[in-house]
Formats: sequence, structure tokens, C-alpha cells
Amino acid sequence: MIGRHSDLSVYKEIFRSSDFLKIAFGGMLIPITLGLSKLSGNNISLIISGLLLLSVVINGLPIIIEAFQGIIKRKINVDELVSIAIIACLFNGNFLEAATVSFIMVFGAMIEEAVSDSARKSIQGLIEVTPDVAITEKNGKEVERKISELSIDDIVLVRPGDTIPVDGKIIEGMTSVDESSLTGESIPINKEKGTEVNAGTINIEGFIKICTQKIGQDSTIGKVIELVKSAEQSKTEGARIVDKYATFFTPFILFVAVVTFLITKEIDRAITVLIVGCPCSFLLAGPVATVAAIGRAAKAGILVKGGAYLEKIATAKAFYFDKTGTVTSGNPKVVEVIKSADYNEKQIVNLAANVEYGSRHPLAKSILKKANEFDCSIQPAKDIIVEIGKGVSGKVNNRTVWVGSTEESQSLDKGITFVTIKLDNKTIGHIGIFDQARPEAKKVMEYLNANNVDIALISGDQESAVRKIADQVGIKSYYARLKPDEKMNKISQYKEGQLVYVGDGINDAPALKISDVGIAMGLRGSDVALETADIVLLNDKIERLPFLIRLSRRMSKTIKISIAISLIINLLSLIAGSMGLLTPILGAISHNIGSIAVVLLSASISFEKYEDLLDS
Ligand code: ADP
Ligand code: MG
Repeated sequence: MIGRHSDLSVYKEIFRSSDFLKIAFGGMLIPITLGLSKLSGNNISLIISGLLLLSVVINGLPIIIEAFQGIIKRKINVDELVSIAIIACLFNGNFLEAATVSFIMVFGAMIEEAVSDSARKSIQGLIEVTPDVAITEKNGKEVERKISELSIDDIVLVRPGDTIPVDGKIIEGMTSVDESSLTGESIPINKEKGTEVNAGTINIEGFIKICTQKIGQDSTIGKVIELVKSAEQSKTEGARIVDKYATFFTPFILFVAVVTFLITKEIDRAITVLIVGCPCSFLLAGPVATVAAIGRAAKAGILVKGGAYLEKIATAKAFYFDKTGTVTSGNPKVVEVIKSADYNEKQIVNLAANVEYGSRHPLAKSILKKANEFDCSIQPAKDIIVEIGKGVSGKVNNRTVWVGSTEESQSLDKGITFVTIKLDNKTIGHIGIFDQARPEAKKVMEYLNANNVDIALISGDQESAVRKIADQVGIKSYYARLKPDEKMNKISQYKEGQLVYVGDGINDAPALKISDVGIAMGLRGSDVALETADIVLLNDKIERLPFLIRLSRRMSKTIKISIAISLIINLLSLIAGSMGLLTPILGAISHNIGSIAVVLLSASISFEKYEDLLDS
């Protein structure tokens, strides 16, 4: 059963644990007593009883203790049922049965646990990627120090092949970096002096010195780990319902057992009912599936903050997309500068760059790049005021420079984005910026269309630029010139619980927040995105969306199927048990086979593939 889905690590874990040895020892006593019973002798039956009792103490007593602790804490769970069954067997004088049932129940539980642990593996993998120590440079000397002792601006040396220990900026050297721990992609990414590198990623070939910016829990990987850990504990809606029923389950099974005994006067039947009635698989199905799905997503560079979001993705009726940086590449280029009588192209770009310096907006980056090409000397503006979704202004030499969208820029109908530059409130020119649609966006939209999901492009940009991108990627409805509050209105107009918003985390935090599920792109807008979004595509890849949807649907379906299977198995076994068709031992065996099957089914979500998704 186990070998089919699991990897070797499952076996390793089972056999490594000292629990296994203990349980196995207790279990071994059972066949030994069976062998002894063939012998004759004075004290043989006494010895057999003693060994069986020892076996019950090893395997059954822990269950009974847990059951008592549960009662004390007023948290009734399934342990009570098994405990009563074991105690009833003992009172009935059937020590063999008590020992066997104890053994099968704990052995089954151990396998279930190992399988759930393997589902948790990918999360553990994330935690293990960051090193504990870093080599720092102080007064020209290399010193190895614990990460926890580092501070910001410390200089850290990273050799080829080493994992980068902190988030920071390269101040010397160049290299390529494997960022797969964050993004799920092991393509080397070139990094040169001045670029940022992240803790937990691997320095492939160069020797680099970095200036520490963020350490430990503050680093991106640190935040991701925290978020995934807390996501693991979050409960899906399905799990909440299961929890609610579970509290009724135990008394109900007890009731059935008592009634069975009263009617049939056969204690064995009542014991079987107690054993097969345990809703183990029913309780495990949801949590294991959720952990497996969240872990699987994390491996693909998708940070999911809770199983409930996956559940919502599975049933979402609409996906709304932000344009700039989400459906477009986010690496726009200045392609046109409209000058005026008094200012030439370079001056216009230079003034704009002065205010855009420090802005994370994709348009700002393109203007800065252009300023670089023009060899402008940038003079960062003071008193910067950002008008989200509109523009930005600041003071340069006591004059106010404003860059952003205006009636004028909106009416320049050329299929590209224009921003107007104003100096002391007077228009001095416009900059035309072209942002390419992501080549993968079209396939994503095709997938969504094929899945009967409403899609729309919502943007603050001008009509012609939005229309062009919408046409290119195959989105039929688009809304242009939306201010941030209008974007929010568009989102909240959609029926509650059914809308997913995909944005880049820049300028669209409110939209990410109010949508039912907010998905943010990548590390670029990292802090905002990590904090506000419900799901973050750490690798900035829009083409992961079909995978995410499939994973969500698989998770939801698996939970439903698992719960249905559990209920059917439980019900049939209950009937068979009360009719005397199952002995307690057979009941324990069939019950555990059922539970393990359900847990394996849930855990198998971790093996969901994504490679072939865009082709189908
Ligand atoms: P989108 O909705 O396409 O993601 P935004 O909401 O970020 O776009 O911005 C909407 C419009 O506001 C942009 O097309 C641009 O005209 C203007 N704008 C926003 N921020 C800036 C900025 N930092 N510099 C220049 N223009 C900006
Ligand atoms: Mg945007």
C-alpha cells in the first residue's frame, strides 16, 4: 500500500523512529504467545497472559493515557473509543484481542503519521535551506559568525557553491544565483555589483561580497517560512465542518456500541463497533490534503497563506487582472518623448527621473533607464508625494515636478502609455512608454476561458494601451482609466466569494485585500505583496496560475472524496460490526487499511506535476 505513492523517505522515517521499535516489540509478543500456547506446562497460560498484558501496556496504555488526558481537557476525540474497546477486551478476559487491537491501531496511526509527515516535507525543505552561519569581513579579516549575531550593513562573503545567508546587495564581484528555493526554478540568474540577492538562494560560480540588508526572519525566505508555517495550521472551511461533526461522532459511536450490546448481549460486537467507528480518516483527510497542497505549491514558488484560499480558487468564477507588471512584463521601455518649445527630450526625461528616483513603479524604472541612456545627472527630488494609480510629484530646486496620468496623456491614443510631465503645474512634455504583454499570459487566459471563468483586465492606464494588451492576450472585457477606488468598486461589484484578483503588489494593495483571493506577483513588490496578498507567485510567473487552479481543484476534490470514502467505510463497518460479521481484530485491520488509504490519497497531492500544464 505504502510503496505506491510514497518515496523512500517515508520508509526511512518509520524505521528510524524508536517508536517503531517499541511498537514492533509489543507486536512481536503476540505471535510469541501464539507459539507458546502450543506448548503444555503448568504456568504456560500465566506466562501467555503476562506477555499479552505487557503488549497491551506497550501499545495500548499510551492510547488510554491520551484518552484520559483528553477527558480532563474536555476534548473528546477518537482515543476514547479505542480505549474503551481495549479495556472492554481485557475485562472480557480476551487479552489476545486487546493486545492485537492495540498493536494494529498504533501501527496504523504511525503509518498515517509518517505519510502526513512526508506531505509536510517540502515545507521542512524550505526551512533547511538557510545556513546558520555566515563569513563576515571585519577590518580585512574573515570571521565566521552566527546569523543571529549579524547586523545590517555587515559585509558577508559568499564563496561559489555556498548558500547565501542574508538578504543584501552585492558590493563586490559578480555571479549567477540559483533562486529555486524561493521560486521553484533552478535557472541560474546573473547578479552583478549593485543587485540584490536573497538568503537561501545558492551562489553558483562567483565570489561575492554582500552588504547585509535583512537577516533571519526579516529576510524574504524567513517571511516565507513563517507564512507557510502558519498556513499549515490554518483550517479550511471543510476542516471546520469536519471538526464540528467530530464532536458528535464519538458519542454517537458510543451510543451505537451500547445499543448493539444491549440488543445482542455480545461484547465482541460492541467492541468491534467502537473500533471501526473511529473517524480517524475522516479527521485526517482535510488537514493532510491541505498541508500537501500548500507544500506542493511552495515547491513551485507559490506561497499560499492558508488552505481556505486554495479552496476558494477551486470554485472561483472570475479572475481580474491588473495590467502593468501583471499581464505585462513589468519591464517597460520609453519609446517616445513629446517635447515642448522650452524643454528638450533630455531635460524632460531628466526632470521626470528626478521624481521617479526611488519609486518602485515599473513606469518609473523605464524613465530612469532612459535618463541613464541620456547620461542625465539625476538629482533626487525632495518632498515626494505619491498619488497611487495617478502619478508622483516632488520638489527639485524649489520647483514642483509632477509626473503622471492626465487628460492630455490619456487622449494620446497610440496604444502605449503616456505620462505627462508638469513643472510648476505647467505641462512641459509627455513620455510614451511601451510595456510588452507577457508572452505566457495568452495561454493563461486560454486556460481560464476554457474553464469558464470570467476574466477582465482592470487598469489605471489609458484606454488604447489597455485595449491593446487585452487584445494581445485574449481578454474580452477590460476597464481603463480606473482610479484605485474604482478598481476596488469593480472588484466588490462581483458576487462575494467568487473573485480572484491578480496584481503585482505595486499600487494595488487595496484591491489585493478586498478581493476574495488576492494573488500577487513576485518578489518585485515583495514587502507589500508578502503582507497583503493571500497567495504570492514568488517567481513572478503568471503561467503558474493554471497549475495553482489545478492544485486547488485537486485538493478540494481529494478532500471530498476522502471524506466520502471515510464515511462509507465507517458506515459499512459499523453495520458489519454490529451484525457480528467482523471480529474486533478484523475490524481493526479493515479500519486501518481504510484510514491509510485515505491519508495516502490526500498526501498524493504533493506529487501534482506542473510541467505539462500549459500544453493541455
Ligand atoms: P495599472 O492599473 O495598469 O497597474 P497603475 O494603477 O499603477 O497602473 O497606474 C495607473 C496610471 O497612473 C499609469 O498608467 C500612469 O499613467 C500613472 N502612474 C502611476 N504611478 C506612476 C508613477 N510612479 N509615475 C508615472 N505615472 C504613474
Ligand atoms: Mg499595477
